[in-house]
Amino acid sequence: MTAEEPQPSQPSNSGGFTGLILILVGIFAGALVGLLYGETMWRAAHGPSKAVEVLEKTLAQKESFSQRAADAAAATDDREAKQRHEKESQRLADQAVKVDARLQEMETIAADTEKERAAGQLYFAETVWMLTEFCGDVFLQILKLLVIPLVITSMITGITSLGDIRKVGRVGVYAITYYFITTTIAVLIGLIMVLVIQPGTQADDTFAYQSESVAEKEQGTPIEKLLEVVRGKPGDPGSGMFPANIFQAATSTNVLALIVFAIVFGSALTTIGEEGMIVIRFFRAANEAVMKMVHMVMAIAPVGIFGLVATNIAKNGGAAGFGEQMQRIGWYVAAVSIGLLLHALVLMLIVWYFGKKNPLKYAMGMSRALLTAVSTASSSATLPITIECVEENNDVSPKAAGFVLPLGATINMDGTALYEAIAVIFIAQSLGIPLGVGELLVIFLTASLAAVGAAGVPEAGLFTMVIVLQAVGLPTEGVGIILAIDWFLDRLRTTVNVFGDSIGAAVVDNLVVSRP
Ligand code: ASP
Repeated sequence: MTAEEPQPSQPSNSGGFTGLILILVGIFAGALVGLLYGETMWRAAHGPSKAVEVLEKTLAQKESFSQRAADAAAATDDREAKQRHEKESQRLADQAVKVDARLQEMETIAADTEKERAAGQLYFAETVWMLTEFCGDVFLQILKLLVIPLVITSMITGITSLGDIRKVGRVGVYAITYYFITTTIAVLIGLIMVLVIQPGTQADDTFAYQSESVAEKEQGTPIEKLLEVVRGKPGDPGSGMFPANIFQAATSTNVLALIVFAIVFGSALTTIGEEGMIVIRFFRAANEAVMKMVHMVMAIAPVGIFGLVATNIAKNGGAAGFGEQMQRIGWYVAAVSIGLLLHALVLMLIVWYFGKKNPLKYAMGMSRALLTAVSTASSSATLPITIECVEENNDVSPKAAGFVLPLGATINMDGTALYEAIAVIFIAQSLGIPLGVGELLVIFLTASLAAVGAAGVPEAGLFTMVIVLQAVGLPTEGVGIILAIDWFLDRLRTTVNVFGDSIGAAVVDNLVVSRP
């Protein structure tokens, strides 16, 4: 038995130019409200009191870290180490003085704000805050709601489109090898970009605060943590790659476990003959339906993004806080964009060497598909045009294109893999969380898997990034830092995803299909 190829989704209007304009309007309106009215909203939302709480904890932490460094200096006989610890202790003590000054300033602001609240002067701002937060929250909740159905159905659909696992021929092996190698290169480029540009650490770390969950993460060696990713936490049957209870894994959003389960389950389905087809068709239909739901969600994206942008700017204290944020996000956008450009160049080298095609002509031939990818932010919606461009403009045989492109649109996402690696490390850098070699290795592995798990729909990479964050124990709330800019980066990474798929078709065609 051979499983049929999955049917591509119809291109959706929600991701088209109108959608883009509406999203731009949402972002612009959100930014305007956030910048002009953010500070008042921040005060109305108890921002100053919350800031006082965090500053108190930050101060205590700075003092304790400074003391710890001083103790370490006293305990060592090595002159160089002593000097290093003393310097660090002094640096932290200086920072503590600045934090203390800010704390006192903030206590005054908090007291004044409470007086304004008691006099009813913040009523309008409170209402605006509540409504914008509501819009953002509902949008975000719907996105989170779709994570599990999206991952399960897209993985099973992707795996079963290979046909009988025992009969995967050379085409399948070459295609998978191509996906694997290019995804690996993409993650490597991402890691290099983010470690070299350091987009999250450009800012001064004076006010960096390490929360309790972060401190907890520091326990255990990298090897222990790596083993924990596979085996799970002792006493938690929903954790690890092979959880004792798959439903518990789903309720705790252990997406990595669901991916592993779906791969094995999907492979098994293709080996049980006709009976398996019923279930395979079921998951394909479910996948189509979930993708339609994601497209529907995109219709409310402008309002959701408006809410997220406005509340995010307001949460950070309005225009003043936004200035510092933008500096960080600007470097992040630069790191992702340069990384994607470099990867596109690597792909052009691959098509020249292994596909025996003129890379510039090949890229030109793909331009219609690439522009569709920019405007829809969906590899699946672009698929019909990708197939047409590859076959008609670039002379790739339909046999290779028909196999490599639909499968690639589901599991081969170079742009997404590169972006996930950068985004996760950027979040860690922004939160002031140091990452060791073990964690970088886990990010390397999980970013590749998360890209495989992402469906070819708008913003899918944002959902599956939770896997990578959870694998290294980073707070998933960190996604908030990059959310506002994701609509833009999604379009760039989708274009690279589609370009990668199209080049895979040329390579497999040249190396396998058109050879005797
Ligand atoms: N939108 C991307 C795609 O369709 C997936 C992602 O969100 O990274 O290829």
